[in-house]
Amino acid sequence: MADSEAVRAKREQEKAGVHFMIEFYCQHKHKTPKGQLCPECQELADFSAMRIDKCPFMETKTFCSECKVQCFRSKPEMQKRIGDVMRYSGPRMIVYSPKTVLKHGCLTFKRVIKNKIKSKKGEKK
Ligand code: SF4
Ligand SMILES: [Zn+2]
Repeated sequence: MADSEAVRAKREQEKAGVHFMIEFYCQHKHKTPKGQLCPECQELADFSAMRIDKCPFMETKTFCSECKVQCFRSKPEMQKRIGDVMRYSGPRMIVYSPKTVLKHGCLTFKRVIKNKIKSKKGEKK
């Protein structure tokens, strides 16, 4: 069944947000010029976009970390790499580029923020 307009928009927003985080990571970690990706990060971006395109839960999904399917598991290397990107880019983008975070306001960022809050609560214990 074809996506509704809202689901299509959500899918595109997710892809844009993840792509932006990979770009941020690549610029800082691999010294790639702005707007470009190194071959390794391009591969990760393509894989992530493909997974998001195929996600059957887009209409209702919240955070991938809460998904029972965990489709990234089929490629452990990619799962590790996307985890590295999230851990690096998420907290830094919230600090250095909050406007971008708002612009791309995707669930990925919300997940990062949620995890930060969770870990802070854990620290207080
Ligand atoms: S982990 Fe689950 S929610 Fe995330 S893209 Fe894969 S199938 Fe969709
Ligand atoms: Zn890179």
